[in-house]
Amino acid sequence: MAFDVDFFVIGAGSGGVRAARIAAGHGAKTLVAEESRVGGTCVLRGCVPKKLYVYASRFADDFRDAAGFGWSVGEAKFDWPRLVAAKDKEITRLSEAYRENLMRSGAKLVEERATVVDPNRVRLAGGAEVSARHILIASGSRPTLLPGVEGLEHAITSNEIFDLPEFPRRLLVVGGGYIAVEFASLFQRLGAEVTQVMRAPNILRGFDEDMRNGMRDAMARAGVVHRFGCLPIRIERDHDLRVTLSDGAVVEADQALIATGRLPDTKGLGLEAAGVKLTAEHGAVEVDANLTSNVPSIHAIGDVTDRVNLTPVAVREGHTLADRLFGPGAAPIRYDTIASAVFGTPEIGTVGLTEKEALQRFPKADVYKTDFRPLKATVSGARERAIMKLVVDGVTQRIVGAHLLAHEAAEMIQLVAVAMTMGATKADFDATVAVHPTAAEELVTMRSASTRYEDGMQAG
Ligand SMILES: Cc1cc2nc3c(=O)[nH]c(=O)nc-3n(C[C@H](O)[C@H](O)[C@H](O)COP(=O)(O)OP(=O)(O)OC[C@H]3O[C@@H](n4cnc5c(N)ncnc54)[C@H](O)[C@@H]3O)c2cc1C
Repeated sequence: MAFDVDFFVIGAGSGGVRAARIAAGHGAKTLVAEESRVGGTCVLRGCVPKKLYVYASRFADDFRDAAGFGWSVGEAKFDWPRLVAAKDKEITRLSEAYRENLMRSGAKLVEERATVVDPNRVRLAGGAEVSARHILIASGSRPTLLPGVEGLEHAITSNEIFDLPEFPRRLLVVGGGYIAVEFASLFQRLGAEVTQVMRAPNILRGFDEDMRNGMRDAMARAGVVHRFGCLPIRIERDHDLRVTLSDGAVVEADQALIATGRLPDTKGLGLEAAGVKLTAEHGAVEVDANLTSNVPSIHAIGDVTDRVNLTPVAVREGHTLADRLFGPGAAPIRYDTIASAVFGTPEIGTVGLTEKEALQRFPKADVYKTDFRPLKATVSGARERAIMKLVVDGVTQRIVGAHLLAHEAAEMIQLVAVAMTMGATKADFDATVAVHPTAAEELVTMRSASTRYEDGMQAG
């Protein structure tokens, strides 16, 4: 049967653009539909603007720390509209670069919403229908809002926070995940009074306990007020926001950011009608190891599959799928050594198993940990700690987890992930000569385990 195109991609975000470019490069007739702007969440309202704002926020520490090193810095002033404008310029440049790369690859773009009609047909918002040999769902995810909160319309999500017309002098952040932590940290440094509330007893569920505690303490030192075990129940807007929490407290704020999680963007996509199985919990597209749904011609990658919701994962999945469908095939993706970061200040860089997970998985586990004052802080006077931790399979001695809370931890963890992908053991780390003076040298100089576990028991 002849199709209009070989490959129809729904969504020109990180994953969709990569899949389309690679497929077109393999000679597949490729059409991409995008309902918003090319680049998706990461470029327009995720990683990139977030990291630019994190950079902006860290000047606050630099100005303060400079005094310890002999500098006198005049009164520092921060101008929010200038930051927003600088961010807009850069994300527009990036979005254009994404579009150009897509066009150069030979793929075609339609700037319309697309929905699935059946296993081989897609309908565009304008009414046109396109038949496709393969359909890729790369529609990403969207922020969730807290159900049951009165006055929720007064709150904002991460989609809006980047472009607020006025800087929020008092910000309430709801949620304890990495996105909530990042916004709380950066807005505090930019000069806001930040209160972060969450249902859980600590931030960053799922991260290693030492990282969670270390980041919580660092945020508290910077001035973020945490309120654990509660959530908003009512939000009222007079001139200010008055947010009533479930523990009875009332927080006054200029803005309330709901950052309690994201959901796969499958609503209204026509997937159920086409017979595609979605997960019961969040409505994510269920895919097999080849990134294919239960309908053999419909595939999915990235956030819409709700597995590892990170840009480089969406990109790798898009590339791998296109190579499999239209190119020479591809090696399976290694999901066990995907590193990620939390861009607080300092940062968390993390890869592999937490201490708790290693204990559940291995009969023996060794944990190496160090907690120290970074050299720069000794002179700047900053009350700052760095924590580094290696989790080792006690039998094979392979490094199975690494967790860093330190400046530039995100940069460091990428290289630890390479070593782990190669199967590095603790002895390999020990045999590696340190770079001095750095924080990273701690990774190769931790000689004795702080904890040894045998059969799940702490052995001292
Ligand atoms: C605030 C924030 C910070 C983040 N920080 C990081 C970070 O530091 N590092 C990291 O790795 N990840 C980060 N992420 C996550 C990252 O942005 C996502 O994992 C990544 O963008 C997923 O890529 P994707 O291709 O699956 O989807 P997306 O990039 O979301 O792209 C989906 C695209 O599909 C389009 N679309 C949806 N439905 C349709 C339709 N029916 N028709 C046409 N088009 C459609 C959307 O408009 C969108 O452009 C962050 C996310 C947020 C929100």
